[in-house]
Amino acid sequence: MGERTLVTGAAGFLGSHLCDRLLADGHQVVGVDCFTDHYARELKERNLERAQQWDSFELVEADVADGRAEALVDGVETVFHLAAEPGVRGGRLGTYLRRNVIATQRLLESKPRRLVYASSSSVYGNAPHQSEETPVAPLSPYAATKVAMERLVESSGLPAVGLRFFTVYGPRQRPDMAFHRFIERCLNGEPIAVIGDGRQVRDFTYVGDAVEAALSAAARGRAGAIYNVGGGHPVEVRDAIALIAELVGGPVAVEHTGMVAGEARRTACDGSLAARELGFTPQTSLGAGIARQFEHMLEITRAAPRRNQKAERRSVVQVEVTDASTTRIRGTAEITSGALARR
Ligand code: NAD
Repeated sequence: MGERTLVTGAAGFLGSHLCDRLLADGHQVVGVDCFTDHYARELKERNLERAQQWDSFELVEADVADGRAEALVDGVETVFHLAAEPGVRGGRLGTYLRRNVIATQRLLESKPRRLVYASSSSVYGNAPHQSEETPVAPLSPYAATKVAMERLVESSGLPAVGLRFFTVYGPRQRPDMAFHRFIERCLNGEPIAVIGDGRQVRDFTYVGDAVEAALSAAARGRAGAIYNVGGGHPVEVRDAIALIAELVGGPVAVEHTGMVAGEARRTACDGSLAARELGFTPQTSLGAGIARQFEHMLEITRAAPRRNQKAERRSVVQVEVTDASTTRIRGTAEITSGALARR
């Protein structure tokens, strides 16, 4: 049996994928989550379905900010700290402080042997070049609490490795994130709502690559270091929408809304430090990654119980991905009105 590992935020998007991978690699995993109200508990429980099938997985429902971390960390080799209140748009300041700062401090007080923690590319704001040397310039309370978290970890002197993730996507992506919203709208036959003009640039990172980076950080990360983790190919949001349109099999309607405070205009990861020290380079192309997320959301749609028997068939989506580097998907899905919205 591999080592005992703790994953905070285990029921979340990244956390659940990390748990799946650690379990498949033979580790004992304790997953902690308090099922915050950022999005539906039902979705988080579904995220954990695969992990729950392992005897080597234990779920502890607890709030890390409550200060019960000593018992959790006892006997654990590596703590992956992913629990947080995410999202640069709006939110309640007290919630960001509690879930991103106080929770981290509580965990640090429990003195984990080895800690890998999730920070964010949002700490860079609109900086034109985004390497770990770039001064931080947070534009939102979320980003500011991620900076505070990094400083707390640094001041603790513990052997910790930070990862600044750049917009992560893939199956199980949070429902408030762009690709999830875009695909959901397409499958419901509704126009995609795009914040701003769609020309903002993001260095989208596939979730499998993000997990790989976290494992590399635990194995090879330099104590005290912080590494950028990005997809390596920044694109405009409207280019990502074009890829989704290919998957849908036709043009998609787009509605633009005003830019939102806290949103950076551009993120672009300089991943050279992670490549050099962690041996990490992202492997998944945007086309392949979006296809997997699309396929996952289609599967959920197909599996959704027909609670509303009166729902009329809304549209039929033909899916065919022809890019040789992507997963090949063929199939037809009957999308009933509101099928995804009911989740
Ligand atoms: P998520 O919301 O899906 O997962 C976070 C999980 O943490 C949730 O299940 C939530 O219930 C849990 N949680 C929050 N506070 C907690 C607490 N005090 N105690 C116990 N559990 C708690 O978010 P995600 O997208 O998977 O993000 C994971 C981490 O990666 C976060 O730290 C986030 O800031 C960071 N990050 C994510 C992205 C991204 O694009 N998804 C980008 C940069 C950084």
